[in-house]
Amino acid sequence: MGNLIYLDHNATTPTDPRVVDAMLPYFNILYGNPSSIYSLAGEAAKAKEAARESVAKLLNAKPQEIVFTGCGTEADNFAVKGVAFANRAKGNHVITSKIEHHAVLNACKWLEKQGFDVSYISVDKYGGLDLDELKGSITDKTVLITIMHANNEVGTIEPIKEITGIAKDNGIYMHTDAVQTVGKIPVDVNELGVDLLSLSGHKFYGPKGVGALFIRKGTKIDSLLHGGHHEGLRRAGTENVPGIVGLGVACELAMEEREEEEKKLEALRDRLEEGITRSIDDVIVNGHPKMRLSGTLNICIKYVEGESMLLQLDHEGIAASSGSACTSGSLEPSHVLRAMGISPILAHGSLRFSMGRGNTARDIDKVIEVLPPIVSRLREMSPFGKDKEKN
Ligand SMILES: *Cc1c(COP(=O)(O)O)cnc(C)c1O
Repeated sequence: MGNLIYLDHNATTPTDPRVVDAMLPYFNILYGNPSSIYSLAGEAAKAKEAARESVAKLLNAKPQEIVFTGCGTEADNFAVKGVAFANRAKGNHVITSKIEHHAVLNACKWLEKQGFDVSYISVDKYGGLDLDELKGSITDKTVLITIMHANNEVGTIEPIKEITGIAKDNGIYMHTDAVQTVGKIPVDVNELGVDLLSLSGHKFYGPKGVGALFIRKGTKIDSLLHGGHHEGLRRAGTENVPGIVGLGVACELAMEEREEEEKKLEALRDRLEEGITRSIDDVIVNGHPKMRLSGTLNICIKYVEGESMLLQLDHEGIAASSGSACTSGSLEPSHVLRAMGISPILAHGSLRFSMGRGNTARDIDKVIEVLPPIVSRLREMSPFGKDKEKN
Protein backbone atom coordinates (compact mmCIF):
# COMPACT_ATOMS: atom_id res chain seq x y z
CA MET A 1 0.00 0.00 0.00
CA GLY A 2 3.04 2.18 -0.65
CA ASN A 3 1.28 4.92 -2.58
CA LEU A 4 -1.92 4.88 -0.62
CA ILE A 5 -3.28 8.27 0.34
CA TYR A 6 -4.98 7.58 3.63
CA LEU A 7 -7.69 10.09 4.50
CA ASP A 8 -9.74 8.08 6.98
CA HIS A 9 -8.07 8.89 10.30
CA ASN A 10 -11.40 9.22 12.13
CA ALA A 11 -11.93 5.50 11.46
CA THR A 12 -8.47 4.52 12.64
CA THR A 13 -4.90 5.80 12.51
CA PRO A 14 -1.69 3.96 11.69
CA THR A 15 0.15 3.14 14.90
CA ASP A 16 3.07 5.56 15.21
CA PRO A 17 6.39 3.69 14.75
CA ARG A 18 7.59 5.17 18.06
CA VAL A 19 4.58 3.59 19.73
CA VAL A 20 5.27 0.22 18.10
CA ASP A 21 8.91 0.33 19.25
CA ALA A 22 7.89 1.02 22.83
CA MET A 23 5.37 -1.86 22.79
CA LEU A 24 7.59 -4.58 21.33
CA PRO A 25 9.55 -5.64 24.45
CA TYR A 26 6.27 -6.22 26.32
CA PHE A 27 5.28 -9.05 23.99
CA ASN A 28 8.20 -11.41 24.43
CA ILE A 29 10.80 -9.98 26.82
CA LEU A 30 8.92 -8.16 29.59
CA TYR A 31 5.87 -10.39 29.17
CA GLY A 32 5.07 -10.96 32.84
CA ASN A 33 1.53 -10.81 34.19
CA PRO A 34 1.47 -7.54 36.13
CA SER A 35 -0.40 -9.25 38.98
CA SER A 36 2.40 -11.74 39.69
CA ILE A 37 5.09 -11.05 42.28
CA TYR A 38 8.47 -11.81 40.64
CA SER A 39 10.51 -9.03 39.09
CA LEU A 40 9.54 -9.85 35.47
CA ALA A 41 5.96 -9.08 36.46
CA GLY A 42 7.09 -6.01 38.34
CA GLU A 43 8.51 -4.58 35.12
CA ALA A 44 5.15 -4.99 33.39
CA ALA A 45 3.30 -3.49 36.34
CA LYS A 46 5.66 -0.53 36.42
CA ALA A 47 5.22 0.09 32.69
CA LYS A 48 1.45 -0.06 33.11
CA GLU A 49 1.50 2.51 35.89
CA ALA A 50 3.82 4.78 33.90
CA ALA A 51 1.32 4.64 31.03
CA ARG A 52 -1.50 5.47 33.43
CA GLU A 53 0.41 8.57 34.47
CA SER A 54 0.86 9.62 30.83
CA VAL A 55 -2.85 9.23 30.12
CA ALA A 56 -3.73 11.14 33.30
CA LYS A 57 -1.29 13.92 32.46
CA LEU A 58 -2.72 14.40 28.97
CA LEU A 59 -6.22 14.74 30.47
CA ASN A 60 -5.15 16.71 33.58
CA ALA A 61 -6.59 13.86 35.68
CA LYS A 62 -5.13 11.86 38.55
CA PRO A 63 -3.64 8.44 37.69
CA GLN A 64 -6.10 6.74 40.09
CA GLU A 65 -8.95 8.15 37.98
CA ILE A 66 -7.87 6.26 34.83
CA VAL A 67 -9.14 2.72 34.12
CA PHE A 68 -7.78 0.89 31.09
CA THR A 69 -10.34 -0.86 28.87
CA GLY A 70 -10.31 -3.07 25.78
CA CYS A 71 -11.40 -0.26 23.42
CA GLY A 72 -13.33 2.99 23.18
CA THR A 73 -16.56 1.04 22.83
CA GLU A 74 -15.94 -0.67 26.16
CA ALA A 75 -15.15 2.65 27.84
CA ASP A 76 -18.46 4.06 26.55
CA ASN A 77 -20.43 0.97 27.63
CA PHE A 78 -18.72 1.02 31.02
CA ALA A 79 -19.65 4.67 31.60
CA VAL A 80 -23.23 4.46 30.35
CA LYS A 81 -24.28 1.11 31.82
CA GLY A 82 -22.05 1.37 34.89
CA VAL A 83 -23.47 4.72 36.02
CA ALA A 84 -27.05 3.83 35.05
CA PHE A 85 -27.08 0.64 37.11
CA ALA A 86 -25.11 1.98 40.09
CA ASN A 87 -27.55 4.87 40.47
CA ARG A 88 -30.75 3.04 39.70
CA ALA A 89 -32.10 3.66 43.19
CA LYS A 90 -32.05 7.38 42.42
CA GLY A 91 -33.63 7.14 38.98
CA ASN A 92 -33.83 5.37 35.64
CA HIS A 93 -33.45 8.20 33.15
CA VAL A 94 -30.47 8.83 30.87
CA ILE A 95 -29.99 11.69 28.39
CA THR A 96 -27.90 11.42 25.23
CA SER A 97 -27.97 12.85 21.70
CA LYS A 98 -29.16 11.61 18.32
CA ILE A 99 -25.66 11.85 16.85
CA GLU A 100 -23.65 9.73 19.28
CA HIS A 101 -21.38 6.95 18.10
CA HIS A 102 -23.11 3.56 18.10
CA ALA A 103 -21.02 2.60 21.15
CA VAL A 104 -23.15 5.04 23.18
CA LEU A 105 -26.39 4.85 21.17
CA ASN A 106 -26.65 1.07 21.30
CA ALA A 107 -25.64 0.94 24.97
CA CYS A 108 -28.57 3.33 25.58
CA LYS A 109 -30.92 1.24 23.44
CA TRP A 110 -29.96 -1.79 25.53
CA LEU A 111 -30.64 0.16 28.73
CA GLU A 112 -34.15 0.85 27.43
CA LYS A 113 -34.71 -2.92 27.26
CA GLN A 114 -33.63 -3.11 30.92
CA GLY A 115 -36.32 -0.66 32.00
CA PHE A 116 -34.47 2.65 31.66
CA ASP A 117 -35.86 5.69 29.86
CA VAL A 118 -33.55 7.44 27.44
CA SER A 119 -33.99 10.88 25.86
CA TYR A 120 -32.21 11.36 22.53
CA ILE A 121 -31.63 15.11 22.14
CA SER A 122 -31.78 16.79 18.72
CA VAL A 123 -29.06 18.78 17.01
CA ASP A 124 -29.18 21.82 14.72
CA LYS A 125 -28.15 21.84 11.06
CA TYR A 126 -24.48 22.04 12.09
CA GLY A 127 -24.71 19.08 14.45
CA GLY A 128 -24.66 21.29 17.56
CA LEU A 129 -26.72 20.04 20.51
CA ASP A 130 -30.07 21.72 21.27
CA LEU A 131 -29.37 22.92 24.82
CA ASP A 132 -32.98 24.00 25.45
CA GLU A 133 -34.26 20.56 24.56
CA LEU A 134 -31.58 19.10 26.83
CA LYS A 135 -32.65 21.28 29.77
CA GLY A 136 -36.31 20.49 29.14
CA SER A 137 -35.71 16.75 29.18
CA ILE A 138 -34.18 16.66 32.68
CA THR A 139 -36.38 15.03 35.32
CA ASP A 140 -35.80 14.11 38.96
CA LYS A 141 -35.07 10.59 37.69
CA THR A 142 -32.16 11.64 35.44
CA VAL A 143 -28.90 10.06 36.58
CA LEU A 144 -26.61 10.54 33.56
CA ILE A 145 -26.06 12.86 30.63
CA THR A 146 -23.76 11.45 27.94
CA ILE A 147 -22.83 13.71 25.01
CA MET A 148 -19.88 13.23 22.68
CA HIS A 149 -17.07 15.80 22.69
CA ALA A 150 -16.75 15.86 18.90
CA ASN A 151 -18.67 13.94 16.29
CA ASN A 152 -16.73 11.35 14.31
CA GLU A 153 -18.61 11.92 11.04
CA VAL A 154 -18.86 15.68 10.69
CA GLY A 155 -16.33 16.83 13.30
CA THR A 156 -18.65 19.25 15.13
CA ILE A 157 -17.41 19.99 18.65
CA GLU A 158 -20.14 20.07 21.31
CA PRO A 159 -20.24 22.65 24.17
CA ILE A 160 -19.34 20.09 26.83
CA LYS A 161 -18.38 22.64 29.47
CA GLU A 162 -21.80 24.25 29.22
CA ILE A 163 -23.59 20.89 29.25
CA THR A 164 -21.61 19.82 32.31
CA GLY A 165 -22.75 23.02 34.02
CA ILE A 166 -26.37 22.05 33.36
CA ALA A 167 -25.71 18.50 34.64
CA LYS A 168 -24.02 19.77 37.82
CA ASP A 169 -26.85 22.25 38.55
CA ASN A 170 -29.16 19.26 38.60
CA GLY A 171 -26.94 16.78 40.46
CA ILE A 172 -26.53 14.57 37.39
CA TYR A 173 -23.40 12.68 36.31
CA MET A 174 -21.82 13.85 33.05
CA HIS A 175 -19.99 11.58 30.61
CA THR A 176 -18.39 12.55 27.32
CA ASP A 177 -17.16 10.29 24.54
CA ALA A 178 -13.90 12.05 23.72
CA VAL A 179 -12.60 9.36 21.37
CA GLN A 180 -12.41 11.88 18.51
CA THR A 181 -10.87 14.74 20.49
CA VAL A 182 -8.15 13.25 22.68
CA GLY A 183 -4.83 13.97 20.98
CA LYS A 184 -6.48 16.41 18.55
CA ILE A 185 -7.73 19.35 20.62
CA PRO A 186 -7.09 20.22 24.29
CA VAL A 187 -9.00 17.80 26.52
CA ASP A 188 -8.85 18.74 30.19
CA VAL A 189 -11.27 16.91 32.47
CA ASN A 190 -11.24 19.75 35.01
CA GLU A 191 -11.78 22.45 32.43
CA LEU A 192 -14.66 20.40 30.96
CA GLY A 193 -15.84 19.45 34.45
CA VAL A 194 -16.98 15.98 33.35
CA ASP A 195 -17.27 13.00 35.70
CA LEU A 196 -16.44 10.42 33.04
CA LEU A 197 -14.58 10.58 29.72
CA SER A 198 -13.82 7.84 27.16
CA LEU A 199 -10.83 7.59 24.85
CA SER A 200 -9.41 5.01 22.45
CA GLY A 201 -5.79 4.33 21.49
CA HIS A 202 -6.19 3.67 17.79
CA LYS A 203 -7.83 7.01 17.03
CA PHE A 204 -4.64 8.94 17.88
CA TYR A 205 -1.74 6.77 16.67
CA GLY A 206 -1.84 4.25 19.50
CA PRO A 207 -2.66 0.56 18.99
CA LYS A 208 -6.08 -0.98 18.46
CA GLY A 209 -7.70 -2.90 21.29
CA VAL A 210 -6.96 -0.49 24.13
CA GLY A 211 -8.89 2.41 25.55
CA ALA A 212 -9.43 4.15 28.85
CA LEU A 213 -12.20 5.60 30.93
CA PHE A 214 -11.58 8.59 33.19
CA ILE A 215 -13.75 8.20 36.30
CA ARG A 216 -13.69 11.19 38.62
CA LYS A 217 -13.05 10.25 42.26
CA GLY A 218 -16.32 9.66 44.09
CA THR A 219 -18.36 8.69 41.00
CA LYS A 220 -20.79 5.85 41.70
CA ILE A 221 -20.28 3.27 38.95
CA ASP A 222 -20.69 -0.50 38.55
CA SER A 223 -18.16 -2.66 36.70
CA LEU A 224 -18.96 -4.46 33.47
CA LEU A 225 -16.40 -7.23 33.93
CA HIS A 226 -16.19 -9.15 37.18
CA GLY A 227 -13.22 -11.36 37.96
CA GLY A 228 -9.81 -10.77 39.47
CA HIS A 229 -8.47 -7.76 41.33
CA HIS A 230 -7.33 -5.79 38.28
CA GLU A 231 -7.58 -2.04 37.76
CA GLY A 232 -8.57 -1.36 41.35
CA LEU A 233 -11.46 -3.85 41.08
CA ARG A 234 -13.10 -1.75 38.38
CA ARG A 235 -12.19 -3.78 35.30
CA ALA A 236 -11.25 -7.44 35.71
CA GLY A 237 -9.05 -9.23 33.19
CA THR A 238 -5.30 -9.54 32.73
CA GLU A 239 -4.18 -6.22 31.34
CA ASN A 240 -3.12 -5.73 27.72
CA VAL A 241 0.32 -4.52 28.80
CA PRO A 242 1.80 -3.89 25.31
CA GLY A 243 -1.37 -2.03 24.31
CA ILE A 244 -1.39 0.02 27.50
CA VAL A 245 2.28 0.92 27.05
CA GLY A 246 1.48 1.97 23.46
CA LEU A 247 -1.44 4.08 24.63
CA GLY A 248 0.84 5.82 27.13
CA VAL A 249 3.38 6.68 24.44
CA ALA A 250 0.61 7.89 22.11
CA CYS A 251 -0.44 10.28 24.91
CA GLU A 252 3.12 11.54 25.35
CA LEU A 253 3.45 12.15 21.61
CA ALA A 254 0.12 13.97 21.62
CA MET A 255 1.32 16.25 24.40
CA GLU A 256 4.41 17.16 22.40
CA GLU A 257 2.96 17.36 18.90
CA ARG A 258 -0.75 18.05 19.11
CA GLU A 259 -0.70 21.80 18.85
CA GLU A 260 1.44 21.96 15.75
CA GLU A 261 -0.41 19.05 14.18
CA GLU A 262 -3.75 20.75 14.71
CA LYS A 263 -2.59 23.79 12.71
CA LYS A 264 -1.21 21.61 9.93
CA LEU A 265 -4.43 19.61 9.69
CA GLU A 266 -6.53 22.73 9.61
CA ALA A 267 -4.52 24.03 6.66
CA LEU A 268 -4.91 20.71 4.81
CA ARG A 269 -8.63 20.60 5.58
CA ASP A 270 -9.16 24.15 4.30
CA ARG A 271 -7.12 23.42 1.18
CA LEU A 272 -9.28 20.37 0.44
CA GLU A 273 -12.54 22.16 1.19
CA GLU A 274 -11.59 25.10 -0.99
CA GLY A 275 -10.36 22.85 -3.81
CA ILE A 276 -13.46 20.67 -3.88
CA THR A 277 -16.04 23.43 -3.58
CA ARG A 278 -14.24 25.39 -6.32
CA SER A 279 -14.06 22.52 -8.81
CA ILE A 280 -17.35 20.68 -8.22
CA ASP A 281 -20.87 22.17 -8.38
CA ASP A 282 -23.60 21.41 -5.88
CA VAL A 283 -21.41 20.54 -2.93
CA ILE A 284 -22.57 21.10 0.64
CA VAL A 285 -20.09 21.20 3.52
CA ASN A 286 -21.42 19.50 6.65
CA GLY A 287 -20.61 20.26 10.26
CA HIS A 288 -20.06 23.50 12.12
CA PRO A 289 -18.11 26.08 10.10
CA LYS A 290 -15.88 26.93 13.09
CA MET A 291 -16.50 24.54 15.99
CA ARG A 292 -15.16 21.58 14.05
CA LEU A 293 -12.22 19.19 14.29
CA SER A 294 -9.35 20.56 12.27
CA GLY A 295 -8.73 17.38 10.27
CA THR A 296 -12.31 16.49 9.31
CA LEU A 297 -14.08 17.44 6.09
CA ASN A 298 -17.55 16.00 5.49
CA ILE A 299 -19.38 16.98 2.30
CA CYS A 300 -22.48 16.01 0.39
CA ILE A 301 -22.10 15.93 -3.36
CA LYS A 302 -25.50 16.12 -4.99
CA TYR A 303 -26.64 13.58 -7.59
CA VAL A 304 -24.02 10.94 -6.77
CA GLU A 305 -23.69 8.11 -4.29
CA GLY A 306 -20.98 8.14 -1.65
CA GLU A 307 -20.27 4.45 -2.03
CA SER A 308 -19.62 4.78 -5.77
CA MET A 309 -17.26 7.69 -5.21
CA LEU A 310 -15.39 5.70 -2.56
CA LEU A 311 -14.83 2.81 -4.95
CA GLN A 312 -13.54 5.16 -7.64
CA LEU A 313 -11.30 6.93 -5.15
CA ASP A 314 -9.98 3.56 -4.02
CA HIS A 315 -9.00 2.85 -7.64
CA GLU A 316 -6.94 6.02 -7.49
CA GLY A 317 -5.27 4.89 -4.27
CA ILE A 318 -7.25 7.18 -1.98
CA ALA A 319 -8.96 5.87 1.16
CA ALA A 320 -11.84 7.93 2.51
CA SER A 321 -15.24 7.21 4.00
CA SER A 322 -18.90 7.89 3.33
CA GLY A 323 -21.86 8.86 5.45
CA SER A 324 -23.60 5.57 5.09
CA ALA A 325 -22.72 3.06 7.74
CA CYS A 326 -20.49 1.22 5.30
CA THR A 327 -18.74 -0.75 8.04
CA SER A 328 -21.86 -2.78 8.59
CA GLY A 329 -22.52 -3.03 4.87
CA SER A 330 -25.73 -1.21 5.64
CA LEU A 331 -27.14 1.19 3.09
CA GLU A 332 -28.95 3.21 5.73
CA PRO A 333 -27.91 6.83 5.41
CA SER A 334 -25.94 8.24 8.31
CA HIS A 335 -27.99 8.85 11.47
CA VAL A 336 -25.82 11.89 12.10
CA LEU A 337 -26.57 13.57 8.77
CA ARG A 338 -30.25 12.65 9.12
CA ALA A 339 -30.36 14.24 12.59
CA MET A 340 -28.87 17.39 11.06
CA GLY A 341 -31.87 17.56 8.73
CA ILE A 342 -30.13 16.34 5.59
CA SER A 343 -32.42 14.34 3.30
CA PRO A 344 -31.72 10.61 2.89
CA ILE A 345 -30.90 11.00 -0.76
CA LEU A 346 -28.40 13.80 -0.11
CA ALA A 347 -26.94 11.89 2.84
CA HIS A 348 -26.18 9.02 0.45
CA GLY A 349 -23.90 11.37 -1.45
CA SER A 350 -21.72 12.17 1.50
CA LEU A 351 -17.97 11.78 1.75
CA ARG A 352 -15.75 12.13 4.78
CA PHE A 353 -12.08 12.94 4.51
CA SER A 354 -10.18 12.84 7.78
CA MET A 355 -6.59 13.99 7.63
CA GLY A 356 -3.77 12.92 9.92
CA ARG A 357 -0.13 12.92 10.90
CA GLY A 358 1.28 11.51 7.65
CA ASN A 359 -0.68 13.62 5.14
CA THR A 360 0.83 16.33 2.97
CA ALA A 361 -0.48 19.05 0.69
CA ARG A 362 0.36 16.78 -2.26
CA ASP A 363 -2.12 14.20 -0.97
CA ILE A 364 -4.80 16.86 -0.89
CA ASP A 365 -3.97 18.11 -4.37
CA LYS A 366 -4.28 14.58 -5.72
CA VAL A 367 -7.83 14.37 -4.35
CA ILE A 368 -8.67 17.75 -5.85
CA GLU A 369 -7.32 16.49 -9.18
CA VAL A 370 -9.12 13.12 -9.34
CA LEU A 371 -12.44 13.80 -7.61
CA PRO A 372 -14.04 16.21 -10.14
CA PRO A 373 -13.78 13.81 -13.12
CA ILE A 374 -15.06 10.96 -10.91
CA VAL A 375 -18.08 13.04 -9.96
CA SER A 376 -18.79 14.07 -13.58
CA ARG A 377 -18.65 10.48 -14.75
CA LEU A 378 -20.90 9.24 -11.97
CA ARG A 379 -23.35 12.08 -12.47
CA GLU A 380 -23.75 11.08 -16.11
CA MET A 381 -24.70 7.57 -15.06
CA SER A 382 -26.58 8.45 -11.91
CA PRO A 383 -30.24 7.60 -11.39
CA PHE A 384 -30.35 10.68 -9.13
CA GLY A 385 -29.03 12.81 -12.04
CA LYS A 386 -29.69 16.49 -12.10
CA ASP A 387 -32.42 16.30 -14.80
CA LYS A 388 -34.09 13.43 -12.98
CA GLU A 389 -34.23 15.45 -9.77
CA LYS A 390 -37.99 16.02 -9.93
CA ASN A 391 -38.85 12.33 -10.18
C1 LIG B 1 -14.09 4.99 17.10
C2 LIG B 1 -15.03 5.59 18.07
C3 LIG B 1 -15.51 4.86 19.16
C4 LIG B 1 -15.17 3.42 19.37
O1 LIG B 1 -13.82 3.19 19.73
P1 LIG B 1 -13.20 1.72 19.49
O2 LIG B 1 -11.89 1.76 20.21
O3 LIG B 1 -13.06 1.56 18.01
O4 LIG B 1 -14.14 0.75 20.09
C5 LIG B 1 -16.36 5.48 20.03
N1 LIG B 1 -16.73 6.76 19.86
C6 LIG B 1 -16.29 7.50 18.83
C7 LIG B 1 -16.72 8.92 18.71
C8 LIG B 1 -15.43 6.94 17.89
O5 LIG B 1 -15.02 7.68 16.87
